[in-house]
Amino acid sequence: MLRRLLPLAILITLSGCGGGGGSSSGGICSATAYTPNYVTAPGMTLRKWNHLPIKVFFQTTTPIGITTIEQHLRDGFNKWEAALSRDLWTEVVSATGADLVVQVQASAPQSTLATTTVFFTSGSTVINSATMTVFTWSSIPEADYNPTGCHEMGHALGIGGHSNSNLDIMYFTGNLSGLLTTPDLNTLRTCYCDFASNPLTDPNPPKTRGPQESETYVFPAKQ
Ligand SMILES: [Zn+2]
Repeated sequence: MLRRLLPLAILITLSGCGGGGGSSSGGICSATAYTPNYVTAPGMTLRKWNHLPIKVFFQTTTPIGITTIEQHLRDGFNKWEAALSRDLWTEVVSATGADLVVQVQASAPQSTLATTTVFFTSGSTVINSATMTVFTWSSIPEADYNPTGCHEMGHALGIGGHSNSNLDIMYFTGNLSGLLTTPDLNTLRTCYCDFASNPLTDPNPPKTRGPQESETYVFPAKQ
């Protein structure tokens, strides 16, 4: 949830696709539109929502320290908004109509920090819905939930894969800084052509048509 409102002049400046990038298939920009990025990393598929902000419902409230794990996740989600000056997500109080449902769950295996699954119509680059599960056990440092939330939100917003640089938060195990990098931001910008058309138009068939597919991203625990 982005609380700061942008002056109109800045919105206009940001709305250009910039650098002659231009959109390519499915409303996703070309890999050279916003560089440096990791758009061409092995296994990467970029997707997008046809509307922003996405509606997020937190199914759980899990106390930790003087706050909750969910609050750390919100703070991690907000890093994308702050860095891009975009309203990317908004919280809703019911799962009905939510785009992304988030839950925190006690984990027995202690091998996975989080998973995010995006659902999309077969052949489409548009995400129809998503789920995120963040696992918790006692030895996870409280400070880790914020960057975990930030990494998982990258998947939920459309980064369908991982950076091959461990400097980026979208490296498969995250990064040491817990901060978004320029390649992280440019990769999400590519998904949305730097949000050039917001509200976004859906270049693909509505979700009711065609079989649904999904892709799940697993955030492994640090060894
Ligand atoms: Zn991941």
